[in-house]
Amino acid sequence: MPIDTEHFKQKLEAEKASLETELQKVGRKNPDNPSDWEALPPERDTSQADENTVADGIADYEDNNAIVNTLESRYKDVKSGLDKIAKGVFGVCQVCKKEIDFERLEANPAARTCREHMN
Ligand SMILES: [Zn+2]
Repeated sequence: MPIDTEHFKQKLEAEKASLETELQKVGRKNPDNPSDWEALPPERDTSQADENTVADGIADYEDNNAIVNTLESRYKDVKSGLDKIAKGVFGVCQVCKKEIDFERLEANPAARTCREHMN
């Protein structure tokens, strides 16, 4: 049975939009590379802050960085899923080139591999 790519396209588009919203809270698109996101520096003005506040600012930045990395890696998977739909190769395992089963795609439309080849 052919895969209903329209169904998964809608799911992926919805996830992409919500990931973009999340990413915009903690990061911004790299102006030199629109497919790359970078963490926002802490907003706090550290110029007159004491040492504790500066340390807090750095911790915030590292937190943002970790969140951006997690969201960005998911964002790339989702974009690659949409890419595959556009190219007509959606739902094919990257390793064995067999079709990925429906339940797995339903749970994760951005899946790159079949159940057997997920790590
Ligand atoms: Zn496989």
